[in-house]
Amino acid sequence: MAVNLTIDGKPVEVPEGTTILKAARMHGITVPTLCYHKDLTPTGNCRICVVEVTGQRFLQAACVTPVWEGMEVKTHSERAVGSRRKTLELMLANHPQDCLTCDASGSCELQDLAYEYEVEVPQWGYKGTRYVTDSDPNPFVRVDFNKCILCRRCVLACEEIQARNVWGIGYRGFEEVIVAGADTTMLDARCESCGQCVAYCPTGALTNKMSYGLGRAHQVTKVTTTCTYCGVGCQLDLEVKDNRIIGVSSNPDAPVNGMALCVKGRYGYDFVHHPDRLTRPQVRRYLLEGGSKSRQGSSWDWVETDWDTALDITARKLVATRDTDGPDSIGVLTSAKCLNEENYLMNKVARQVIGTNNIDHCARL
Ligand code: SF4
Ligand code: SF4
Repeated sequence: MAVNLTIDGKPVEVPEGTTILKAARMHGITVPTLCYHKDLTPTGNCRICVVEVTGQRFLQAACVTPVWEGMEVKTHSERAVGSRRKTLELMLANHPQDCLTCDASGSCELQDLAYEYEVEVPQWGYKGTRYVTDSDPNPFVRVDFNKCILCRRCVLACEEIQARNVWGIGYRGFEEVIVAGADTTMLDARCESCGQCVAYCPTGALTNKMSYGLGRAHQVTKVTTTCTYCGVGCQLDLEVKDNRIIGVSSNPDAPVNGMALCVKGRYGYDFVHHPDRLTRPQVRRYLLEGGSKSRQGSSWDWVETDWDTALDITARKLVATRDTDGPDSIGVLTSAKCLNEENYLMNKVARQVIGTNNIDHCARL
């Protein structure tokens, strides 16, 4: 059933059960949020999305309040804006003012809102650094709870997307803090280092350890690509600075995986610039220079060559083996790192060129 209401004086019609936030966004009306993320269950705890609803004594959290027939909503009334400003002020009162050196500067939602709402950093309330920075030994996730605003997005991302339930809320009142498991380390609390909590954290409380200090949002170019690790085909954004990959971030528009990535897709990129990486084909010296196939001496050494030479040698050896020992003496193992089309072509090479059905794929482990 459709519900009719007005938002900022604009008549809108939305399905019954729609929240004020969704109704506004469906009609191009901006309501700021912080703890809300479209992928996660709304909790309404940060109070940034509060709006004024005619006839209601208190401001309503737009992310959790469903619309009703005849509702009149004001998203930017003086009262709503004043409340947001005060909430931001309270957050900043207990937040390190180190945007100049913070890794999240430029991609921090708290910073953006403080700027948009012209919030002055209050001179009262700040209790100083309360937590050890980089407090968890996880090799990929850098934890700094001094910058945590207790929005709980990390808790929900780990629970609802990754189903690992690593993060929770510990202690109470001013001592309230995000804890891993029963206040232990992330890995002890069954973390699999997927980095989903980092991807959803709106501040610099959870950041990527491998990228730390290498470059911030305004310094990197994002290059959207497909993960090379398996056949799922997750899309991700490479963060490139000075022609080097310094990090990987989720691409919210990725059709297959959304914001989700596994540990390999998010953190397994250091091979790209590794000095040990082979970038040209290598063959045994005796295959290039003739001579015997002896494991002794330099004829067994690897030497670099060009692709045409390496492929010619491979083809010649395959044909010789097929002709001498029969096609079923050869087996072909393809890879999930290849495209579907490449795997299909190898299937043709095995069955039609070599003449064997001995073809398999690493994903069948
Ligand atoms: S890295 Fe993944 S598994 Fe570990 S706490 Fe974060 S979301 Fe949970
Ligand atoms: S660590 Fe980040 S995502 Fe988690 S509650 Fe704090 S600010 Fe929110």
